[in-house]
Amino acid sequence: MAGKVSEQPLVSVVIPAHQTQGVERGLLRADPSAGDASAGDRSAGTEAMRRNAPAGVAGTALARLAGSVHGVRTHDPVFALTFDDGPHRLNTPRILTILADRGARATFFVIVRNAIGLPGVVADIVAAGHEVALHGQDHVDLTRCSPRAAAAMIRGARDRLEQLIGRRVRYFRPPYGTQSLVSYIIARGSGMEVVGWSSSPRDFLDLDLDRHVVVAFEELEPGGIMLVHDGAPSAPGRRGWLLGRLLEEAGRGGWTALTVGALLQQGEPVRRLWFQRRAEAVLGELAPLYLAEEPTSDVAASQNLTSQGRCGGPATA
Ligand SMILES: [Zn+2]
Repeated sequence: MAGKVSEQPLVSVVIPAHQTQGVERGLLRADPSAGDASAGDRSAGTEAMRRNAPAGVAGTALARLAGSVHGVRTHDPVFALTFDDGPHRLNTPRILTILADRGARATFFVIVRNAIGLPGVVADIVAAGHEVALHGQDHVDLTRCSPRAAAAMIRGARDRLEQLIGRRVRYFRPPYGTQSLVSYIIARGSGMEVVGWSSSPRDFLDLDLDRHVVVAFEELEPGGIMLVHDGAPSAPGRRGWLLGRLLEEAGRGGWTALTVGALLQQGEPVRRLWFQRRAEAVLGELAPLYLAEEPTSDVAASQNLTSQGRCGGPATA
């Protein structure tokens, strides 16, 4: 039932066609030669360029100038696995164990306040060969801050994180996935790339556990970036269970999970103009789920939106 909108849409929006595909087919495979005639074009670059607005040469030039990274152009079955909102005293060590068992690498976009409280966990992340990146000093929506306050938060948090890990911090993901041109310029001016994502299991929602995995791999394209969370879970053990299932499915499909830095060595970055406030960020995450077959997903999503999200606000990253 690709293309069928649920009976309770949040709002009328145009959903990219690729997000309607595969939900009813189950989990997709990464092998570009696995019988899909259009597979040769199914890279994060192709998809992200299609989602860019404005389109055309001018849009491409603007994205190159002021775009955030959402993947790389490649046909190889590689992706960056990224965690937001940690470190968490229970979740993150468990996640590190699972990543080690599977031989996977990841980038942790940390909240500096959490990192300062758990220096041993941060050291373990680095020692295991993973990457530490910045999500914020706290989980503050920077689009609601004055330019001066946003600059102080971003630069101060980067400095504290660099002191903590003893190395440069190269990547920044804004809390909630909200961004203004001002906050973007501040982050880039601070020497960091702004990194978004192209795939997510929507682990901030209370979906059926298997459905989280289906949603994430339905969206994942070669060279993509997957967003997961290691912050406080809605239920004990849920984060670890989900990661285990995601990596199991990745292995089955021939995918290799990398850090953002390693992914960027695999191809030219895909940049998108990515400026949005909270409502747009929430819609961007929830709208594809409204094309799903199971009406229970809609109910779960709407219930979560009325409660506190894991980031201290309604839903998303
Ligand atoms: Zn977050």
